[in-house]
Amino acid sequence: MENNRITRHPILPVDHSKKVPFLWNGKLLHGYTHDTIASALIANGIHVFGHHHKDHSPQGIFCANGQCAQCSVLVDGVALKACMTPLQENMAIRPLEGLPAPIEISIPQNIKAKAPKEIKPEVLIIGGGPAGLSAAGKLGSLGIEVLLIDDKAKFGGKLVLQTHRFFGSSQEVYAGHRGIEIAEILTKNAQAYDTVTMWASCKAVAVFSDKKIGVVNKENEYLLIAPRSVLFATGARENSLMFPGNTLPGVIGAGAFQTLVNRDLVMPGKSIFIVGGGNVGLIAGYHALQAGIPVTGLIEAMPECGGYQVHRDKLARLGVPILTSHTIVSANGSDHVESVTIAECDASFSPVKGSEETIPCDTILIAVGLLPVNELFTKAVEYEIDAYAAGDANEIAEASAAMISGKIAACEMLQNIGYAHNEDLIQLRNTLKLLSARPGKAIAPSYELPDSSVMPIIHCNQEIPCNPCSAVCPIHNIIIAEEDILHPPIYLENPKACINCTQCVRICPGLAITIVDRSKDSDFTTVTLPVEFFPDRLPETLPLTDQSGNVIYHAIPEHIVPAKNSTWLIKVKVPANVANAVAGFQLQKTLMNVDAFSDSFFEAVTNETIICRCERVTYGEIKALIDDGITDINQIKAITRAGMGACGAKTCHSLIQQILRRAGYAPDEITLNTTRPLFFEVDFKTLANQGKGQPGD
Ligand code: SF4
Ligand code: SF4
Repeated sequence: MENNRITRHPILPVDHSKKVPFLWNGKLLHGYTHDTIASALIANGIHVFGHHHKDHSPQGIFCANGQCAQCSVLVDGVALKACMTPLQENMAIRPLEGLPAPIEISIPQNIKAKAPKEIKPEVLIIGGGPAGLSAAGKLGSLGIEVLLIDDKAKFGGKLVLQTHRFFGSSQEVYAGHRGIEIAEILTKNAQAYDTVTMWASCKAVAVFSDKKIGVVNKENEYLLIAPRSVLFATGARENSLMFPGNTLPGVIGAGAFQTLVNRDLVMPGKSIFIVGGGNVGLIAGYHALQAGIPVTGLIEAMPECGGYQVHRDKLARLGVPILTSHTIVSANGSDHVESVTIAECDASFSPVKGSEETIPCDTILIAVGLLPVNELFTKAVEYEIDAYAAGDANEIAEASAAMISGKIAACEMLQNIGYAHNEDLIQLRNTLKLLSARPGKAIAPSYELPDSSVMPIIHCNQEIPCNPCSAVCPIHNIIIAEEDILHPPIYLENPKACINCTQCVRICPGLAITIVDRSKDSDFTTVTLPVEFFPDRLPETLPLTDQSGNVIYHAIPEHIVPAKNSTWLIKVKVPANVANAVAGFQLQKTLMNVDAFSDSFFEAVTNETIICRCERVTYGEIKALIDDGITDINQIKAITRAGMGACGAKTCHSLIQQILRRAGYAPDEITLNTTRPLFFEVDFKTLANQGKGQPGD
């Protein structure tokens, strides 16, 4: 069997020591203790988990987050989401071919549902990501009784998938630390308070009109929580996208990719292509390269990438072709992605005919934005619960902003229930505004660089909320106005010269700072570059690039400084006249010829394009109803079954809204889907509290 395990990683510890045998379709395979069923199957080269009952289309992983149901498999005859089910020894797993057959069960006589236990904490926090953990820490510090629950085995939310250093403010949100480190800091901080109880692997499944929240805990017990106040820090789910082939195994969300690579240490593919140039897509590309997976290209429909320029530049320098004003036309392959077809798009995002290009790849990452997971919050507001939303559940923004928004929600809650807090809410809201700011325009440096013999060159000139380089400099030579961290940093000798401590080089999340040292040789300058890859993966001769990724010189590394917190430093000697321009090096050869690309969205969509992936409802079926004047998504659901599948409309609802908007309907002319609890599947045995056990018992 193919082995798709990541066996070493420059940032993450790798522990593949405890093997777990399991059966796939009767064949003995091995996974590891930390695997889900999905990661164990993908590690063994299995990407097709079954076939759909309606059209026999191959099914595989898409979200890796329990939000869709495309990865369902059969475990002892029961259909389960492979991405959410931990692998267990000797599990007998089979592909889900069509609908699962009814299973024979013997129901004991006189069975009685046990009433769920009721718990009454002062505050319930749903979601243990940056917002929920920050809120728990704030409330705990004031002695408030808090129960925090999270549906994952580990607290930290998406932070646990982030191997890169974070932007933001060093003083307020641990900028300069890696996401995985921030997750640990926030978790420890919240756990330090006696009044804070935290339950991992505990899922909120419903909000009821009697103001109680139904949850299923790690032991599979169904409980009711009746808190005085609830904070919903439930995060976000990934947007889906309409294009032919969008449900082929190998088309996955960027978050799913990060989950498989950075949590499960599994390679979902051997060459990936990324759709979307926001921060999520750009970062996922970087994570792929760290894991040793080539990135064949990244496209963005807008004329500029929406993510931070330093992220974009970092990827371009490493050799990833980035094409703006381009869209995906189709994912191609019979039962798995074999290539992607892209095209230039015009100002209305329609593909320009004749500009199509097809690029071989086995994985296509969809990184086209996030949607708040807010079904539970919306119901809580409807039922007049004292409810708050924070982080992505409230507004999609960076994790740094989520930390502040969690703190603000905690303070607002405290105020409403009559407790004092010691925060300046106006200042917190200003900080939140700064950290949520979209990247501004790139500004060419407007000052003369000093002609010093040793100094940093800062290849970061866009307005973004970030300041670790300035905070870390021991002689305060890197300046960013503290009250407005959006300003790009500038280097000033004030009056001391740079002491070449390299701290700014190591801490910069954008790997955007180099040090030039002209002190030893007037013709050749030593340039120090940061590296977050194993040095033995680097080419012998480094193709050195400028800030945007153009190769400007080739040099053999003179010296590699051992890693501190997984950042190595590489020293190269270059002619004095190019030294200031050297910003990085190419890691992977440019796999696409960028110049070969010259020609959106809706014209690429065919009537056969799948909109509802659970029920396989097509664009053509939905568009025909809209053309007949139907603008109520409930009616579309009743007629076509779109949104009636196992995911509960979590992936198609936004797509149907897009089709309606595209057909000319304003938001107030569209009737949204009526949501009803339960929002996640719970088996009847669990609801009736008939003994502890694993899902599917
Ligand atoms: S190398 Fe050290 S002293 Fe020089 S600018 Fe960077 S942080 Fe400051
Ligand atoms: S140079 Fe400074 S402001 Fe720019 S990304 Fe690096 S640490 Fe942030």
